[in-house]
Amino acid sequence: MSTTNPNDTSRMDRREFLAASATVGAAAAMGSFTATAKAEGVVAPFVLAPLPFADDALEPVISARTLSFHYDKHHRGYLNNLNRLVENTPYAKMPLDEIVRQTAGQQDKIGLFNNAAQTWNHSFYWNCLKPGGGEIPLTLRAKMEADFGGVEACKKELAQAAVTQFASGWAWLVAENGRLKVVKTSNAETPLSTDAVPLLTIDVWEHAYYLDYQNRRADHVADVIDKLLNWEFAAENLPA
Ligand code: MN
Repeated sequence: MSTTNPNDTSRMDRREFLAASATVGAAAAMGSFTATAKAEGVVAPFVLAPLPFADDALEPVISARTLSFHYDKHHRGYLNNLNRLVENTPYAKMPLDEIVRQTAGQQDKIGLFNNAAQTWNHSFYWNCLKPGGGEIPLTLRAKMEADFGGVEACKKELAQAAVTQFASGWAWLVAENGRLKVVKTSNAETPLSTDAVPLLTIDVWEHAYYLDYQNRRADHVADVIDKLLNWEFAAENLPA
């Protein structure tokens, strides 16, 4: 691709945008983020899907300023690194979730794993957020009651994991062996490379909240759980 003609860049942007939109549309129709990523067979070069909401739609919990740095600098940075690292390797022909699984736990692949997992984790995270959050679908509510003793107990455990994750990482609601569980992971680590199926996540890297909440991670987490979690998306991710 020419790097000197600015028209080439704008054409690329439009094509990337359409490809990304198509992927998001298919994901919504199929109802499973992970399954769709696989079924679509999307391989490198990966494109950044548009956010599923406007820049200011999550305010005041997540400001447009935080979102713009988080999506346009951090997420895009991981994705650009990933595309560079897979170029001319066998990973260039693998869907993103497969790259994450194949490189997990391999010390000589740590750079590739970190960027692939962070790319996947962030795409998943944006779908876990929705202005106003919304109702918990009955299928998911029943499982929260069965496995945690209630919706509030489940939310409390998720908040606890998010607050106690030492330094950078993620808190997750997952399904494993037919049961819901809360887990936390460090840095780029993700349940995607385990037997657990990710249902929801909260990003607790400082870049996710520091401009809006500074050191008050617990307040940020409480507000995300109360006001922004997309429970419908979590229910769609439940294994059949
Ligand atoms: Mn992040």
